[in-house]
Amino acid sequence: MPSRFLRHLPMLLLLVVLMGLSGFGAHRVAQQLGLADLQATGLHRLDLYTASLEREIGKYAFLPGTLGLERDVLDLLRRPGDDKLAPSVNAYLEQLNDRAGTLSIYVIDTAGHVVASSNWRRADSFIGEDLSFRPYFREAMASGNGRFFGIGTTRGEPGYYLASTLADDSRTLGVAVIKVSLEQLEKSWSTVEAPAMVSDENGVVILGSVADWKFTTLRPLDETTRRAFDQTQQYNRRALTPLELKEIAELDHGARLVSIAKKGPEMVSVYPVAGRFLAQSRPLPGTPWTLTVLSHLEQVDEIAQSRAMVAIVGAAFLFMLGLTLDERRRHLKDRLAAREALQKAHDQLERKVDERTADLSAANHLLQDEIAERIRAERTLRAAQDELVQAGKLAVIGQLSTGIAHELNQPLAALRTLSGNGVRFLERGDVATTRANLERIAQLVDRMGLITGQLRAFARKSSGQLQPVALCHALDAALALLEPRLSQAGAEVVRHCPLPEPRARCDANRLEQVLINLIGNALDAMDGQPAPRIELDCAGLDGQARLSVRDHGPGLDEAALSHLFEPFFTTKAAGVGLGLGLTISAGIVRDFGGTLSGANHPDGGAVFTLELPLLDETERHD
Ligand code: ADP
Repeated sequence: MPSRFLRHLPMLLLLVVLMGLSGFGAHRVAQQLGLADLQATGLHRLDLYTASLEREIGKYAFLPGTLGLERDVLDLLRRPGDDKLAPSVNAYLEQLNDRAGTLSIYVIDTAGHVVASSNWRRADSFIGEDLSFRPYFREAMASGNGRFFGIGTTRGEPGYYLASTLADDSRTLGVAVIKVSLEQLEKSWSTVEAPAMVSDENGVVILGSVADWKFTTLRPLDETTRRAFDQTQQYNRRALTPLELKEIAELDHGARLVSIAKKGPEMVSVYPVAGRFLAQSRPLPGTPWTLTVLSHLEQVDEIAQSRAMVAIVGAAFLFMLGLTLDERRRHLKDRLAAREALQKAHDQLERKVDERTADLSAANHLLQDEIAERIRAERTLRAAQDELVQAGKLAVIGQLSTGIAHELNQPLAALRTLSGNGVRFLERGDVATTRANLERIAQLVDRMGLITGQLRAFARKSSGQLQPVALCHALDAALALLEPRLSQAGAEVVRHCPLPEPRARCDANRLEQVLINLIGNALDAMDGQPAPRIELDCAGLDGQARLSVRDHGPGLDEAALSHLFEPFFTTKAAGVGLGLGLTISAGIVRDFGGTLSGANHPDGGAVFTLELPLLDETERHD
């Protein structure tokens, strides 16, 4: 198991890296896109809030200046101690304040003392107060107009002060001041969708859609500034705690990424008031203030996180898909390789088969050549054998010639005597004796014709055609041919032939030649014996025709038994035997489809057996 895990470790690492990278990339891209989106919305909000604030402030911008149109007001400034004028101006200011919905309206002389005020009825009225230290007074005296955010010195009410100088044709008479409540300005923000704040030139938040942000500082205040605040009583000794807004990064178009620390559970708002924000600021025209819109990054973060998750899952899915496809590709490749290997093996096999076939056909050719050669050799051998047979016949004839000569000489001598006597008997007129002589002559001529005819038949070349031959008949023919030798040797021939005569398909002449040879050998073996005896036996048994020639000679010795059928094996004297007789005989019998064998008879003498396939009943009659 661990080895399998290790084998897959690089893949797992790759997957993790891929998922990490995709998650990170998707997060980054989604965050950038979200930020760009948020920035566009923020800018839009900034436009909207600036416009509504400007409109709200602009409503009161001309109000202080309009007091210069009021004669009573100017007269009171000219004569501050006028008891008759003061109440009417106060009443007028009170009325105007009510109508305009402002916090207070008052008039200050050039020395900085309040000469008339809308809140004249109240115990803490401004009348008689020295406000020469207030920046809006100083500014107005210097430039004609003064604007200031501050907290009231008497009632501690924050407000926006708008001041304008009042003058007649020749000189400045005093300053008219309108104090607008901040709530008044904030009214326009009742519908804002994101936290917004206005900070003054000191970095103090004077307006904020979140109540707790008011009078917090956006940047740290140094000691000199704090002391100046004490002098002008701008914030009327408010604590001015820092908002703890930290800049994380600066983006383009003046946008910044900031974080606001959570102050405590008491900070309850419809907006998120702590966390990371996109802050977009813009100076408010006509004021030294800055409007800042804060857009919370929570949503962007959430979207970025969900996109990152989608990307991670997507990457894993793609990776798996890739793996599956790769696996498939590899599988296909393996299959292709296997098919190629198979094809290769197949080709190789085919090549081998071709080679073997070529070898085989070459071997076949060789074999055919060899067979042809054998056939040629066989033919040559057959021809040689035929020649030998012929030669053998001639040899036999040669051997027989003495006997034949003796056989023919006798009748020839008898013929001469008979013919000589015949002439004499004819001269004597002895017709009867002459006839008897002539008849005797005819008999002798017949006998001679028989002998020569058999010799001719023996010497004639065989036709090679096999025919049914009666074996005893052939045996008799052979005995007839050997008659002179047999009678010369005084041999006793015992012949046994069953009926019906066994028949075999062979050549009668050549069979006779074999038998002559066997009987001749038997006579040779018994040469010099007082009572030579030859037993000839013919039988048909078990589909075999058997012809045996037995003599009572010395039998076959060891050497003769093992070399009997070899050509030129002979024990006879030179000129007597050639050693071809049995060789030729065996060849002839083999041609007939039979066998020739020689053995010693248990009762002495040699016995030669010739076996041929026996012709059956149907063949016998054809
Ligand atoms: P050849 O008669 O010219 O010698 P054969 O082939 O007929 O040639 O005989 C070969 C030899 O076999 C003879 O020389 C003889 O030694 C032996 N042989 C053949 N027939 C007989 C027989 N009947 N008895 C003893 N030996 C024989």
